[in-house]
Amino acid sequence: MQETRFSGDFKTTPYWQDIAPRVELPDTPLPEETDILVIGGGYTGLNAALQTAREGLGTLVLDAEHPGWGCSMRNGGQLSTSLKPSHSQLVRRYGEELATQLCLEGQASLDYMHDLAKQDGLELGLRETGRFHGVHKPHLYNRLAKECEEGHPVWNTDCFMVPKSEMAGELDTDAYHGGIVYPHHCSIDVAKYLPSLLKTVLDYGAAVKGNCKVVSIERNAVGFTVLTTQGQVKAGKIILATNGYSGALSPWHQRRIIPIGSYVIATEELPRKLVDRLFPTDRVLSDTRKLVYYYRLTPDRKRVLFGGRVSLNETDPRNSALKLHRDLVALFPELGATKISHGWMGFVGYTFDTLAHSGEDKGLYFAGGYCGSGVGMASYLGMRIGQKAAGREKTASAFERIPYPTRPLYYGNPWFLAPSVLVYRFRDRFGI
Ligand SMILES: Cc1cc2nc3c(=O)[nH]c(=O)nc-3n(C[C@H](O)[C@H](O)[C@H](O)COP(=O)(O)OP(=O)(O)OC[C@H]3O[C@@H](n4cnc5c(N)ncnc54)[C@H](O)[C@@H]3O)c2cc1C
Repeated sequence: MQETRFSGDFKTTPYWQDIAPRVELPDTPLPEETDILVIGGGYTGLNAALQTAREGLGTLVLDAEHPGWGCSMRNGGQLSTSLKPSHSQLVRRYGEELATQLCLEGQASLDYMHDLAKQDGLELGLRETGRFHGVHKPHLYNRLAKECEEGHPVWNTDCFMVPKSEMAGELDTDAYHGGIVYPHHCSIDVAKYLPSLLKTVLDYGAAVKGNCKVVSIERNAVGFTVLTTQGQVKAGKIILATNGYSGALSPWHQRRIIPIGSYVIATEELPRKLVDRLFPTDRVLSDTRKLVYYYRLTPDRKRVLFGGRVSLNETDPRNSALKLHRDLVALFPELGATKISHGWMGFVGYTFDTLAHSGEDKGLYFAGGYCGSGVGMASYLGMRIGQKAAGREKTASAFERIPYPTRPLYYGNPWFLAPSVLVYRFRDRFGI
């Protein structure tokens, strides 16, 4: 019975893959040496490479699979200021100055995407659609309204509340008790951004290789000797951009990055009239749950992309697809007969302080830990560490200045995931 939820051509690969233009990589042998070796060909790695290649430094990008194979071609394409903790939480942790700098860089990550969209003919399909954030428990409405009225101490959010009685202009569902709109949040076309970024990096003369996993990194007198599945390469500097797929390559980072699966479905194409009624705007969508649903229409407005965390432990995307479909239908009962055309997952990189981190250790540069909000932040911090590796950075990013915590007994296997998801489920049930 449940199998009937899937369309005949159901796939467990990302919807974006079906429509993204193919970028051919030149079939060249692995060079013996390079100024900069970027490990990981997602938003972090390619934005770093864009900077170093533009500076004329010999740049080699290696990906264990192929560029964009990780989260950077699996995500929902929602763009915000990318910071999870509030300004006041950050002030309590780090003091006023650093808290404000972190928030300013959250804003800078969003601004960077607008700048990027104007550079080198890069195509992001970036649109300032705004975000509708639904309130899933009635008592949370007033809390959000208060926050909205007080405004953010650093950002100009221009947010406004939408009471339940006026929801039809935003979203046709009875499941929310109103919501808040952040008009400056954006959507990108995931199928366009990565291929366009990759092409630009190649145009600037960087070498990019897929199917080339870095197996070990050793320091030598002048830099690094790196062993890959295609041979050895010497590098002056390394940029580690493996995020949720980091594995054991760098045990220090492995103890700090928590790989957590995020799951998405795409529906089959829907009738235009139904789409226009249920989703009258093009906004990106999310809600007040801790185990947040994030969703939107595809750029052609034909399908719904619906994502979230619906299982305690990691699971097969086919299983999660059925649960996501159930939750989508709970919000929009009219989609009950709609079939799922794609269901996929990817590992986002979480951190113990729910903040991204970047930095350098004697020629090894890194950025990661975007906690599921990396479209803008991975791009921005990738750009920043690329500039740093190229010797062009004037001041350190605030994300370098904060401690990067681990926990006792954590070595890269998030054994605490299932109990954490249970706690969040409980909190979501009562809106606490
Ligand atoms: C389902 C899903 C939905 C998401 N939705 C959103 C969203 O709407 N908005 C948002 O802001 N963020 C979202 N994210 C998060 C966002 O996509 C990521 O934060 C971002 O893409 C991270 O980019 P990255 O380059 O750091 O890592 P990745 O894109 O994951 O790239 C890491 C790369 O490293 C490579 N690699 C790993 N180990 C090695 C090795 N040893 N040698 C060579 N290569 C290696 C991998 O093959 C991989 O390609 C989502 C993520 C997922 C999974």
